[in-house]
Amino acid sequence: MRNLRHANPLAAVRNLGILAHVDAGKTTVTERILYATGTTRKRGEVHDGTTVTDFDPQERDRGITIFAAAVSCAWDGHRINLIDTPGHVDFADEVERSLRVLDGAVAVFDAVAGVEPQSESVWRQADRHGVPRIAFVNKMDRAGAELDAAVASIRERLHPVPLVVQSPIGAEDAFTGVVDLVRLRALTWTGDDTDDDTAAAAHEGPVPDDLREEANRRRRLLEEAVSELHPAALEEFCAAGSLGAGTLTAALRDLTRSGEGVVVLCGSAYRNRGVEPLLDAVLAYLPSPLDVPPVRGTHDDGGERERAADPEAPLAALAFKVNATATGRLTYLRLYSGTIEKGDTVWDATARRTERIGRILRVRADRHAPLDRAVAGDIVAVVGLKSARAGSTLCAPSAPLVLEPPGVAEPVVSVA
Ligand code: GDP
Repeated sequence: MRNLRHANPLAAVRNLGILAHVDAGKTTVTERILYATGTTRKRGEVHDGTTVTDFDPQERDRGITIFAAAVSCAWDGHRINLIDTPGHVDFADEVERSLRVLDGAVAVFDAVAGVEPQSESVWRQADRHGVPRIAFVNKMDRAGAELDAAVASIRERLHPVPLVVQSPIGAEDAFTGVVDLVRLRALTWTGDDTDDDTAAAAHEGPVPDDLREEANRRRRLLEEAVSELHPAALEEFCAAGSLGAGTLTAALRDLTRSGEGVVVLCGSAYRNRGVEPLLDAVLAYLPSPLDVPPVRGTHDDGGERERAADPEAPLAALAFKVNATATGRLTYLRLYSGTIEKGDTVWDATARRTERIGRILRVRADRHAPLDRAVAGDIVAVVGLKSARAGSTLCAPSAPLVLEPPGVAEPVVSVA
């Protein structure tokens, strides 16, 4: 990770999920994020089966994301742990568990289809888990793509207050960029970016004259929508007649985290347009592990306990995925509190037995990086756990806690 600017390194972590209806472009968005963050050198394409988050051959064959995997990448001094959530309705339990371990999500919509039935069910699940979201209206390059219509369908069917922070530049095949309505800057992309070997180059510049009026109009709408929801913004809006970029950004962050509003961005993942501003928005608006409420669990004495994201507190971690891989049995953990080190003895409160932490890995798309320890807020994979299943709680032996009631044991998934 590049130089962290934050006093507490956890402030620079985003545990992020991508939620979508099948075919909206979740896999492509994920691939482009990994590419934009330098995690992969060559962009995977969904159609040729080289995508890195879809490990399982069965998944490749079916062209859907079945098994959630977590991949870490770095963007502007932050670490983004990307948790792949299954989009298919048959895997609702897995979606449910992924939603537990992430702190924020990007909901991907198709700019032509707008809200589809599955986007609706995943959206409701995210509501239940209180997951703050950003909406990304994808496929802006498609014939019939229309940002305003997609935003209207988000408002009508999902009922959030949409806070549109971009204005598209060009339509359909000629969609070349966006105006950032917060900073009032134009971002455009050039290059034959559907080609694996050629990255789309982003250019930033002033808003072109012919787009200025439209950008100002949309900026005004954004300022009004934000001021209606946010008292500090309203105060500035009433006093000054407009909102500064600083106030607007802070208000958008507050509204995203409280769930009162949903920031809407647009782009074309396939053409690699709009991915960098999406990542910037993830850092600006979605919460870090420090910004989310403490997790609750049931202590052995039957009482409830809360655990905040404190590396010094007793360990509480949820296993959310177990994969049998060539590296060994990989157990993906979300640490809520405490610290784990290689060789530590921990208590599997679900199986009621002790476990020993083997190697700790930061899972990347192309390789896994060994870690000496992992702390509260992080998502890592551990090698060598024997009993842990998806849904198991690992905790300090002295502070037994179950985060999730034991359910049907999930099978260990073999991954090539
Ligand atoms: P998922 O099922 O949500 O993971 O969707 P995929 O990422 O697999 O994408 C579904 C299909 O839509 C694939 O054929 C992609 O190439 C295509 N696709 C994804 N993003 C875009 C986009 O921005 N524009 C266009 N035209 N097609 C896209």
